[in-house]
Amino acid sequence: MDAFEASANVPRGDFGFDRRPATGQSFENALAKARAGDRLDVDDAVELLTTGTDRDGIDRQRKERVLEAADRRRAAVVGDEVTFVANLNNNVTTACNTGCLFCNFKDRSEQFRTAYQDDHGGFTKTPTESRAAVRDAVERGVYEVCSVSGLHPALALDADHREILEASDRSDLNYRPPAAYDVDPRTYVEQIEAMNVDGVHVHSMTPEEAYHARRGTDWSYEEVFERLQAAGLDSVPGTAAEILVDEVRDVICPAKIDSGEWLEAMEAAAAVGLDTTATIMYGHVENEAHRAIHLDRVRQLQDRTGAIREFVPLSFVHEETPLAERGMVDAGATADEDELMVAVSRLYLDNVEHIQSSWVKYGDAGGLKMLSCGADDFMGTILSEEITKRAGGDHGEFRSFREYADMISAVGRVPVERSTDYERRRRVDPDADVVGPELGPKADGTPLL
Ligand code: SF4
Repeated sequence: MDAFEASANVPRGDFGFDRRPATGQSFENALAKARAGDRLDVDDAVELLTTGTDRDGIDRQRKERVLEAADRRRAAVVGDEVTFVANLNNNVTTACNTGCLFCNFKDRSEQFRTAYQDDHGGFTKTPTESRAAVRDAVERGVYEVCSVSGLHPALALDADHREILEASDRSDLNYRPPAAYDVDPRTYVEQIEAMNVDGVHVHSMTPEEAYHARRGTDWSYEEVFERLQAAGLDSVPGTAAEILVDEVRDVICPAKIDSGEWLEAMEAAAAVGLDTTATIMYGHVENEAHRAIHLDRVRQLQDRTGAIREFVPLSFVHEETPLAERGMVDAGATADEDELMVAVSRLYLDNVEHIQSSWVKYGDAGGLKMLSCGADDFMGTILSEEITKRAGGDHGEFRSFREYADMISAVGRVPVERSTDYERRRRVDPDADVVGPELGPKADGTPLL
């Protein structure tokens, strides 16, 4: 019997993983290292994430000690300011055939073809439509447009790329000409150019999208990112990371790029001068050893690049995903696990300044709680075209500056509007009658809606 079998910190299902949360470390030693500010290793992280592999389940008292250490570290590194950005989500298309089992965002691309007659819930935007959505949001005062999309088969990087794809007889390239679809998304370069309105910050092209943008070529990721940068790309979201351990990716997203490719793309983005973020999506089939290894790979990446501006723990939302429908998971992470994930991210990633609390994943109360577990950033307004069209209400998720100012000051912290790279920061006065963004190219303090 190994140390894992002796523990009740068991993974959710039996997927035959090699990596297990067994260590030669003790919880107390790991916590002492964390408190002293020593660089942690994977075993330390496993001990902290499990609150000790010597005990069954989560020990609440130990958990509080981990959270306290993380909160102190947060205060020492970034102080009491809690940041947020005025941003718009403008996703170009939901068409995707990659089939990730945790995803409920995509729609099979066959449904978007001209020959398909039935209704489907998905969408594809032309560059003209993207530009209109971004222009409207810039007028309202957003600083950033964030765009992450499905891997539409007709999307190519640019005209050169389309020429290569059209000439290829390879059947494994996930390519189909635009004429086959109801709506032509054009190219990645045209979409980025369209979103590059009046100096708004364009945050787009995940490693998975960058892979799609070079499929069938021998181009390097650097070359791809350089062309996108020339079109107006400012920074790259480090999503599609999921868990950077291939035995987990083989279960939840077998058709996606592997962890080595993800890291290669991120290094390339940094090499051409683009800022990045990094994420972890946890709480599905993986165990604490996978989470710890993931943190280690992100820290190594940051040691090499220095380009990661924030780390974003994303708690898996299991409802309506193929993983749940197939009975592979029946729940996401518990609140204890969420708090520990944020806290250990803060303690482990000694080279990443900002840890984000995602209110979309944790909810309002949970999201606020994370601000005392090591997090110091509270996402963005996530304006969407749908919301601007309908001027608020219940349509989609959106957080106003007023809500941000009230929520953050209510927990005794300082609300601060930030730029995507955190370099520009502005304290928001929670007692002001009117609060709105001021950092965007056309922002003048008027509320977004
Ligand atoms: S690549 Fe992205 S959009 Fe496509 S299935 Fe995977 S997570 Fe969903």
